[in-house]
Amino acid sequence: MKKVRSRATLAAILALAILALLGVFVFRFVTRGGAWASFVSNPDAYAGGALRAGTVTDRNGEVLYAARNGAASYAADGLTRRATLHVVGDRSYKIGAGVIYRHADLILGWDPVNGLWDPAGEGGTLALSVDAGLQRTALEALGDRAGAVAVIDYTTGELLCAVSAPTFDPDAPPEDVESLPGVYLNRALSAALTPGSTFKLVTLTAAIECLPDLYDRDFSCAGELSVGGGKVTCPRAHGDMKIEDALASSCNCVFASLALELGPETMARYAEKLGLTARHDIDGLFSAAGRYDAAKAGSLDLAWSGAGQYHDLACPVAMARLCAAIAHDGAAPALTMLLGKTGDFEELMSPETAEKLDKAMDYCVRRTYGADNFPGLPLHAKSGTAETGAENPTAWFVGYLADPDHPYAFAVAIENAGSGASQAAPVANAVLQAAVGN
Ligand SMILES: [Zn+2]
Repeated sequence: MKKVRSRATLAAILALAILALLGVFVFRFVTRGGAWASFVSNPDAYAGGALRAGTVTDRNGEVLYAARNGAASYAADGLTRRATLHVVGDRSYKIGAGVIYRHADLILGWDPVNGLWDPAGEGGTLALSVDAGLQRTALEALGDRAGAVAVIDYTTGELLCAVSAPTFDPDAPPEDVESLPGVYLNRALSAALTPGSTFKLVTLTAAIECLPDLYDRDFSCAGELSVGGGKVTCPRAHGDMKIEDALASSCNCVFASLALELGPETMARYAEKLGLTARHDIDGLFSAAGRYDAAKAGSLDLAWSGAGQYHDLACPVAMARLCAAIAHDGAAPALTMLLGKTGDFEELMSPETAEKLDKAMDYCVRRTYGADNFPGLPLHAKSGTAETGAENPTAWFVGYLADPDHPYAFAVAIENAGSGASQAAPVANAVLQAAVGN
């Protein structure tokens, strides 16, 4: 009897173990089955190096990519093909951020019940959140310069624009395509660049939350600040000012002294809290991590780190997400490239802090960049001119529209270009004018 009971127990344990493993398998099948089925060497998914079937469209239904029986075609015109290449992906799958590589299962029309069974041979349709018209405008505005334009709807987290240059026409790739610098990288999502003065938004956030008397203080700039045997310099002496003028003047001396006062741990904590050092999950694609590391820096390097120099790095889409939070009472949305998909919000800062930053960025436009340069746009922004060792600085312009009907946050970064206000701001204006329908 005892033997029977122990055998029954053993059988029950085995049955439970099998059930548990089955559960794990079903869970993995539902969550990863699409990736298994769309594996590149599956002949039911691919033919002749291309997806067997499926369509990719922009948010308005404009076809960006269509595959039938293993033959793939891109958009009808060359500008659209070049402007959407990094979002869609190239024919050789070298662009890791491309959706034909990332979301092959959704394009093929895979589902957990029918798998890849597709009697009509048409595959599925993957509608992206990007707007092909904005992509074209952004690429034209970048011209032949290397750079990125990212635009986010800050109420949904949808990426409306993610343009990267240099790019190429997948239907007529140039012979020297491999020699174009970082051509397979989607710089909007996968590049980390020296942020320059756009990083002062991080230093300012830390100062607002950690220095209660910040707005009562009187600051002064003599054009240079002696620190640790070296100097932090401004292009000119900014004189006496309050904190909002320090941001609008982009005074290096003030932000360097704030970084020294806050210290490397607090600065690093805020770079992390504001999402600049994180890799953001965009439907399974992770954005490039930025960097803030002044723990072992001397005081001069710590000072410059508060102005976005030293070892600081930021990814354009993470900068746009930070601006999205400022525009949205301190809460940043989860990012997506899929139309209509919305995720959770993460509070990066308190609503009170966001309101102060909002006012400061509004003031930057009115006092420094000139509202006339952005006709009709309720633009709040910050520029950056980042020294990188290249011949010319990386030009940045980041911000958002304070308009519930057009809730767009953005980041523009152009390498080896010049000043943020003169080079990146006009690109932002062109894209935002198109976005609001002007
Ligand atoms: Zn100054």
